Amino acid sequence: MAEHVAKNDPLTSGGFETQCAHYGEHRLAHGGAVAPPLYQTSNFVYPDAEAFERRLLRQSPYYDYTRVGNPTTAVLEAKLAVLEHGTWARGFASGMGAITAAINACVESGAHVVAVANCYPPTHEYLEQYLTRFGVTTTFVHGTQPSDLLAAVQDNTRLIYLESPTFGLNEILPIEPIASAARQRGIVTVFDNSWATPYFQCPLDFGVDLVVHSATKYIGGHSDVVAGMVVGRDEELRRRVCREAELHGATLDPFAAWLLLRGLRTLAVRMEQHQRSGLEIARFLARHPKVAQVYHPGLESHPQHTLARTQLRGFASLFSFALHDQSREATHRFLNRLRLFSLAVSWGGYESLATGGTFFDRHASGARWLIRLHVGLETTADLLNDVRQALED
Ligand SMILES: *Cc1c(COP(=O)(O)O)cnc(C)c1O
Repeated sequence: MAEHVAKNDPLTSGGFETQCAHYGEHRLAHGGAVAPPLYQTSNFVYPDAEAFERRLLRQSPYYDYTRVGNPTTAVLEAKLAVLEHGTWARGFASGMGAITAAINACVESGAHVVAVANCYPPTHEYLEQYLTRFGVTTTFVHGTQPSDLLAAVQDNTRLIYLESPTFGLNEILPIEPIASAARQRGIVTVFDNSWATPYFQCPLDFGVDLVVHSATKYIGGHSDVVAGMVVGRDEELRRRVCREAELHGATLDPFAAWLLLRGLRTLAVRMEQHQRSGLEIARFLARHPKVAQVYHPGLESHPQHTLARTQLRGFASLFSFALHDQSREATHRFLNRLRLFSLAVSWGGYESLATGGTFFDRHASGARWLIRLHVGLETTADLLNDVRQALED
């Protein structure tokens, strides 16, 4: 846990980029090493039996066992807590490790969850199918109106699960009204902030209780690590999330934490470039005669663009669009003609990716063929040319 890192860090007041570079790092305690040391160790030794005994009281200054805590992971946790405007963060072996731990920390048998329908599909499956085995039920709602979500609240509702922009369609949820209504009713809110990253959006500032991340995506940024994070401010929730981490054991590996620290160094500059290229390609598509609709919240034509601007400081580069020709053939033809964009799942890395299908829209009456692009860090003109030629006759 991050509590092993000195609290009086002189760089707490620095800007986002400064904190990415320096916060939570104690270089002079590590021979002056600029890159944080990788503590690739499962366990830690104690100097004497008395110190070993104090470990049970959790009063020991020493680390104990890497499933519970590790110095490399602690640097990452301290940094991410500050970037998300939280007081603590906990690393996990994957985004789903973080999400299931955050959900489990809030529910017990007989509890009810209200969740936004267009959430990440494995999260949806966990809530809809897996948790019913333990007597936890979920009502899924569209959620762009706070009243939709609040109308689904029951006496036993313990958790409201949010993701904005939503998966696939990039709809925007009004975070503050939902979070404050939940708080008044004593309901915990959990928010998947993987799309925006703390560079563009800090949900805790709108009253959300727990932020979850797939750090596999933009935070890692190099498509070489699978990881997750939970961030919060409440001490009781911290205790419960750490209990989930220790007992289910979806622990972040120290080397994965080390790679995430390297990714965070450049998060701000990467997000700026993702935003610039993503918007340029989204604008090109929105003007193209073969394109019916582009689902990018940074476009003025997005129905919730004004709301988006009040919550997001900028826009990530993952978005979908629909062709006028709603056939499987037209979608496959576009995907097969792409040369620079690769066909692959995931997103948030340096490389541009595309996927397509009818699976993105959970509350639409008819299935729509959508193409999802993740705009990477290649030269913008090259990416535009690729999309342009893939749409040619
Ligand atoms: C990928 C993803 C996850 C899951 O993260 P993993 O690291 O793959 O477990 C959760 N939420 C969103 C929005 C994602 O895109």
